[in-house]
Amino acid sequence: MLRQEMLRINARIPLTNFGISMLGPALLKFGSEEQKLDHLPKIARGEIRWCQGYSEPNAGSDLASLATRAEDQGDHYLINGQKVWTSYADKADWIFCLVRTDNTGSKHEGISFVLFDMDQPGVSVRPIKLISGSSPFCETFFDDARAEKSNLIGEEGKGWTIAKYLLTHEREMISGFGTAPKKSVGQLALESMGADTSGRLANGILRQTIAQYQLDTMAFGATMARVGDEAKAGQGLGAASSIFKYYGTELNKRRNELNLAALGEYALGWEGEAYRGGAVSRDWLRSKGNSIEGGTSEVQLNIIAKRVLGLPDE
Ligand SMILES: Cc1cc2nc3c(=O)[nH]c(=O)nc-3n(C[C@H](O)[C@H](O)[C@H](O)COP(=O)(O)OP(=O)(O)OC[C@H]3O[C@@H](n4cnc5c(N)ncnc54)[C@H](O)[C@@H]3O)c2cc1C
Repeated sequence: MLRQEMLRINARIPLTNFGISMLGPALLKFGSEEQKLDHLPKIARGEIRWCQGYSEPNAGSDLASLATRAEDQGDHYLINGQKVWTSYADKADWIFCLVRTDNTGSKHEGISFVLFDMDQPGVSVRPIKLISGSSPFCETFFDDARAEKSNLIGEEGKGWTIAKYLLTHEREMISGFGTAPKKSVGQLALESMGADTSGRLANGILRQTIAQYQLDTMAFGATMARVGDEAKAGQGLGAASSIFKYYGTELNKRRNELNLAALGEYALGWEGEAYRGGAVSRDWLRSKGNSIEGGTSEVQLNIIAKRVLGLPDE
């Protein structure tokens, strides 16, 4: 809600990082008092930029198959392995990371949740370039990276519960992509196509499509507000965050498609003033990742089917 209000008045959102929206809530629930005192004030002040070390080359949707190893060295762990798609790893100070401390049980057991400093010889990153032209994420390599045991969150080998809890906050955050754009698609279309004699958008078909999108956005906003109130009343978002993530990111992709339709040929340029610096086409390309990051749409639909609707597996 705060995010939406700030966007509405065109204010810069303060301290948007993975600390505030993902790690903070997990520390509040699972961290020790010392860990909270150590990390939460720095998160609130925006002193530390965090990145998320979850996905690996063979563990994306099937996250519990992760293989990055953490070897017990008494007061610390030595970490070896590789993460991928680590957003802003090249800029982050610290990482919250899923590592395997035991591989004798089922794949959901033996996963631990640790925090460590990115600025050390055992950590290296390689940015990955996207079709939008930017490199917001990296491959991240650990070669005897060191994590202090004082920064193990929760119990060793029980990190899966923390990982899932954090994901509900990540999904809620990502779902916000679908709301409160800086300039509405209707405004953009009016500027680009002009109005008919009654002051309505000149293109009737696009007008109708935009109206439907706006109605769906308002209905989504109302649902978010209702569930947000329930969460404040202590029920928590839980698996419902998957509904938000799924629908919010689909809405955002629709909005970006409509922006292209509104600008017509002026949406196609990559740079230059006439093409608004290529922002519309770059945003459109970036939006394709919305329904992948934080768990794909297919995975969200599986969670909704099982955990929200209670449908059987097969
Ligand atoms: C912009 C962006 C930022 C990201 N940032 C981070 C980050 O900071 N940290 C991080 O750890 N990760 C990050 N990720 C990675 C993201 O979490 C994974 O890409 C995602 O979980 C999917 O995993 P995958 O890419 O391995 O695809 P896969 O798991 O290989 O999936 C491939 C396809 O198979 C489908 N599929 C897989 N399993 C099922 C199933 N059981 N049922 C139905 N369909 C299925 C998927 O929906 C998808 O279409 C980011 C990704 C993107 C796009």
